[in-house]
Formats: sequence, C-alpha cells, structure tokens
Amino acid sequence: MSVRAGIIVTGTEVLTGRIADRNGPWLSHQLLALGVDVAHLMICGDRPADLTAQLRFLTDQGVDLIVTSGGLGPTADDLTVPTVAEFCNRELLLDPELEEHIAGIIRRYRPDTPDLDTGPTRIGIRKQAQVPTGATALPPTGTAPGVVIPVVAGDRPIPTIVILPGPPGELQAMWPSAITSPAVAEVLSRADDLQQETLRAYGLHEAQLAETLRRAETEIADLDRLEITTCLRHGELDMVTRFASADANVYRRLLDVLTEHHGHQIFSTDGSTIDDQLIDALDGRSIATAESCTGGLIAARLTSRPGSSAYVLGGVVSYSNDAKSDLIDVPAETIAAHGAVSEQVAAAMAEGARRRLEADIAVSTTGIAGPDGGTETKPVGTVCFGVAINGRPTYTITRRFPGGRERVRTLTTTAALHLVVTQLERG
Ligand code: ATP
Ligand code: MG
Repeated sequence: MSVRAGIIVTGTEVLTGRIADRNGPWLSHQLLALGVDVAHLMICGDRPADLTAQLRFLTDQGVDLIVTSGGLGPTADDLTVPTVAEFCNRELLLDPELEEHIAGIIRRYRPDTPDLDTGPTRIGIRKQAQVPTGATALPPTGTAPGVVIPVVAGDRPIPTIVILPGPPGELQAMWPSAITSPAVAEVLSRADDLQQETLRAYGLHEAQLAETLRRAETEIADLDRLEITTCLRHGELDMVTRFASADANVYRRLLDVLTEHHGHQIFSTDGSTIDDQLIDALDGRSIATAESCTGGLIAARLTSRPGSSAYVLGGVVSYSNDAKSDLIDVPAETIAAHGAVSEQVAAAMAEGARRRLEADIAVSTTGIAGPDGGTETKPVGTVCFGVAINGRPTYTITRRFPGGRERVRTLTTTAALHLVVTQLERG
C-alpha cells in the first residue's frame, strides 16, 4: 500500500479563476516523484468553514499527508494556520524567535516600513509568528513561515499536515525543508519506490493506442502492475506509466510491443519533447521562420527556451500577400497563380526567409485557420508547410487540421516542429 496524499489549494482568486493554479499541479508532480499517490487536489476559497470541510473530507478518506498552499500572509483573509490548528485541536503559541526573524526580514527588504515595532505591521508579524503547539515552523522564504503538524494518532487519526505559502516561488523554495522535516520524512519513508516513464507519439490516435494496450494485456502477464495514463496534447499523444522499480521489466516488454506496432509514430521514449529533439537535430545549424496563419507562434515556441539565440536567427510574420512579396520575396505571380495557401507559396516563403535571414534552415506555414476563408478545395484547417534546408530541394506538404482557429494554429505549430525534425533526420 503506497502513501496517499491530498492537496488543498486555498485562495478565492484561484477558486474564481482570476489566477490559474500553479501550486496544485506543481505539488502533485513533486509528490508523485516521491512515490506518493495523490488522491485529491482541491481548491478552496478564503473561508475557514470550507477549508475545515476539505480537511475533514481528506481525513475521512484516510490520506497520510495533506499539503495546503496559501493564506499565510499577515492580513485578515489569511486564515490557514488558525483554521488548521483548530481542526487539529491545537493551540496557537507566539514564537518570539520567529517573530524577530520575520521582523528582521521586513527590516531588510522594506526598511521604510513605518511602525515596524508597534503599528499594524507588528500585529501582522505576530500573526505570522503563531505556531500550533507540537508543530514545526519552516523558515520563511518570503515573510511567512510554513508549518508542519505531525500526525495525530487515535481512533480517527488526523494526517500529517504541511502548510505552505501561496506565492509559487515561495512555496517551491520551501519544499525542500518541508519534505526533510521529521514528520514528513517519516511519511515519505513509507512510500513505494516508484518509477515514471513518458512515451510520446505523433500521428497516433488514442483509440489505436488503446487497442494495442488491450492486445498487450494478453501477451504480457502482470501488465496490470503498470499504471498507464494517456493524454492528448497539441496533437501529440503522451503515455505516462508509473510502476514499482521491481516491475521495470514489465514496462520494457510493453515498450517492445508498442514500438513494434507504432514505431513510426513514437518519437520519444525518454521523456524528451519535440522541442528538445529539434535542438539535437539542428546540430549547431541555424533556423528561421516565415509564418502566415501561425502569426509567430512557431518563432515564439522556438525562442521560449533559454539559450535559443544560439540557433534561432529570427522570423517573419508575413500575413498579407504584400508582406510575403516585400519581406521574403514571394513572387506576386506565384501567389496569383496558386493562391496564398499553396505549397508553391509555402516553398517560396521558406526559401525567401532562409535567404533573407541567412539561415541554414527555414520553415514556413500558410493556411486557413478560420472560422472564415475556407473554400471547397481549401477548407478551414488547410495548411501548407515548407521546409528549406541549405543544399537540398525544398520540402512541402499540405495538411488538414480539425477544430477552430485556436486549435488549427496550435496543431500547425506542433506539426511544423515535427516536420523540421523529420526532414533534418532524413539527412
Ligand atoms: P502573502 O503573504 O503574499 O499574502 P499567502 O501565503 O497568504 O502569501 P495567498 O494570500 O494565498 O498567499 O496568495 C498570495 C498571492 O500568491 C496570490 O495573490 C497569487 O498571486 C499568488 N498565489 C497564491 N496561490 C497561488 C496558486 N495556487 N497559483 C498561483 N499563484 C498563487
Ligand atoms: Mg495572503
């Protein structure tokens, strides 16, 4: 039996969708990597009664560990510590050393704070320096300390609870001290030795993979020892598998079956992304982009990585016909003869961008993202690509993507990266 955990993300701003939750997924990922089974991820507004209800629910579920984020600040709506303390029947005690520690942080970072020793700031500091009896305070990574309350044994035991701050940077910085605190380390020591592997495929449908997995069940005994989840993202199919390290051979056999059936579609078995692979495939060469329907999304994706200036030279968003002709030398006659969405124009765009930016490689897109502009022969979702590689004939292809404007643009961006990698690997 593995260790089970629940996560409670607090904050009305998260509950209402005003800000996207960055702590829940991050904590879940960390716990999974430690071999913990995350049973529930809950979001709670800044209301003590609702937080108590969620603590009660997770306790009733018998989880071994609860992690909360948010509500540790000095203001009146920051109520996590008193609420959790009350839930655990623990008194709050002022820790004078902690109080001075927090005051010191504020003195250092906001030396102009008025009334640090008397006014409302001091009241806030005292509030943050309250620690439930028997709990451990985790050193602040902002101004708020975290708290670890060890398990309360009994007929209805209360699990170990870790209380972390809301700002993601502070929460992440506090994580190492949270997991090494004795009460949490004790829980984690009971976790299974779990391994997680990621396989990625492109051009493979979920139904096809499901069919192969069904067949694998008859060929591989113990396949049920693997916990397999699949997820479709930007046109790629990710398969994440978790298993006890002792079952690594079962996973290897599954991998054999999958590569036998879908070897062409599987592009990664080591967790690497197509973005990682593109850098390897470039092998020191430079790349440029010429984008129409993707409006710079490919360039944005290429440059989202630190260090990309070593291989990305630049990109042109040539949306209008004039921009295509003026900026990257697409002959007006080619556009007139074949239409802006044509492989001929895609080829000219890639070649023009490659020449103008003096790159080794250029990729281009021109298509109909919708919702308007489709025709019978070129319906919405039709996209032409060009890949120009120095010293080789330019490669072009036309694809048709499903969905609305957003989806067509996203799928086009991913497709462009795959095309470049495939063309480069062809050598
Ligand atoms: P503070 O001392 O800043 O008040 P806190 O521990 O009380 O810290 P919250 O008040 O819950 O934390 O959140 C403070 C800010 O941190 C939020 O306004 C938000 O910008 C960010 N934040 C909190 N929780 C999350 C979350 N789950 N995902 C992303 N950002 C968050
Ligand atoms: Mg707050």
